[in-house]
Amino acid sequence: MKNNFFNYITIIIAFVFAILIGISFAQKIHFASSSDSYAEKLSTKQMDAISITTKKENLPKYIKFNVTKKTVTIGSNYTVRYKLSENSDSKITWYSNNSDVAVVNDKGTITAKGVGSATIIAKTLNNKKAKIEITVKPKNKTITFARTSYTINKGDSFTLNVSYTPANSYEKISWSTSNQKVVKVNKKGVVTALKNGEATITATTSKGKKTATCKIIVNNTKYIALTFDDGPVRTNTTKLLDGLKKQKAYVTFFMVGYNIPGNEDLLKRMKKEGHELGSHSYSHSKLTTLSNNEIVNQITQTNSLIRNAVGSYATVFRPPYGSYNDMVLYVANAPIILWSVDTLDWKYKNKKYVKKQIVDNAYDGAIILLHDLHATSVDGAIAAIKTLKKQGYEFVTVSELFEIKGMDLTNGNVYRYRN
Ligand SMILES: [Zn+2]
Repeated sequence: MKNNFFNYITIIIAFVFAILIGISFAQKIHFASSSDSYAEKLSTKQMDAISITTKKENLPKYIKFNVTKKTVTIGSNYTVRYKLSENSDSKITWYSNNSDVAVVNDKGTITAKGVGSATIIAKTLNNKKAKIEITVKPKNKTITFARTSYTINKGDSFTLNVSYTPANSYEKISWSTSNQKVVKVNKKGVVTALKNGEATITATTSKGKKTATCKIIVNNTKYIALTFDDGPVRTNTTKLLDGLKKQKAYVTFFMVGYNIPGNEDLLKRMKKEGHELGSHSYSHSKLTTLSNNEIVNQITQTNSLIRNAVGSYATVFRPPYGSYNDMVLYVANAPIILWSVDTLDWKYKNKKYVKKQIVDNAYDGAIILLHDLHATSVDGAIAAIKTLKKQGYEFVTVSELFEIKGMDLTNGNVYRYRN
């Protein structure tokens, strides 16, 4: 029995031991595996942070950029160089306050995304910061002049303006002329005609070396636009066209719609012989007294009649009595041409009077108001053309006058004379 009892005790003790050993083993394994997975969960960054934080004496006292402002071109990259206080080290975090304008990667390389300005900030682990202001400007693609050539008189002066593409890519310009004796140009692009001839003006951008050229023609020709309103009428308009052909003079007709039916051949002849066809409403009503619908009808009816006759609409519009409002400007669909010299030909109906009015009031760039309704106006105009041609005048259409003088005509704008 005794032996048996001890045997039982021994077995129990051995069993308990075995359990204890087993538990402690299991715990060891458990702790080890738990600690490994914890380490795996920490990112490299956090590990670095932990290791650096433990060596606090190495963190920088400051971070500095080599520059604090920089202008870059859109699409380009720029890497910021920074300096930390001596014997220090830190991971740097980079960010931009305006990622539409500039973005930055974790190496401090900035990419210019859009025109404007942005602040790029570099931050150390201990929160020391450096800032740089980045201004992004557009690419200087091209410079151009509004026109490729200008005709001006001897002694005239004007400023040649450069247009930039994109619009706000301003650069300093240097100016030169191909012929100092004919045309001179100053630092601001002011061109002065010195004598008859031609010269090419060149503008060059200082950085991009982009150029634009423009021909300046200097002559003493003076240009006039005679305008004939209220027609066409068979006899007088035909007589006028004959006289103009003989004189090699070109004019502008402001026709009323109700005079067009039956005279389509006259319109065809006007166009064929180099004259300009303008509209003067349908029934010569004072447009400002009409309803919007009536204004639309007055303008569109005449335009249709002109188009049916010659295949194109009126290129210029003159409201009866020179009277217009916003609706007229809006509906006209053409530049509004008034006049600078009113001959009052319709009042005096006298050939000599009309001739004298034109000759006495002529000047380079004048727009002269006449009416081909009256034979006296036609005869007076042809006589004046002969006289003025001897004085160096050329007779051109309204659109040609503005073209020659380098002015753009815009639909719905009002013009009384050039410049
Ligand atoms: Zn009229």
